[in-house]
Amino acid sequence: MVTITNRTRRMKVFLLPHDLICKATGKCHCGISKTDKTRLISSLTIPAESRVVGLSQAILTLPEIQLAIKRGEIEIEQKPKKKKKDTPKADKPAPQSPSQ
Ligand SMILES: [Zn+2]
Repeated sequence: MVTITNRTRRMKVFLLPHDLICKATGKCHCGISKTDKTRLISSLTIPAESRVVGLSQAILTLPEIQLAIKRGEIEIEQKPKKKKKDTPKADKPAPQSPSQ
């Protein structure tokens, strides 16, 4: 899980391209236009001086995010998951052996 903090006094909006985000997360976040059936790319909005928690690691692959990090506009926090990283699918609970 990734937390992004907007350190600027301006709202930041990042587009979440299907090829990068949806494919990486294995889940499509895009909307579909009801009028012409085209794919509507979703976006991430971070209000000024606010933080957004619980984002996918895939967000870090976005060039716009990388650029904003370099510019010091946003700050990234990565929290290690309690579960194992190599769970094949996020929507299924991984079988865990009681090890306590
Ligand atoms: Zn998508």
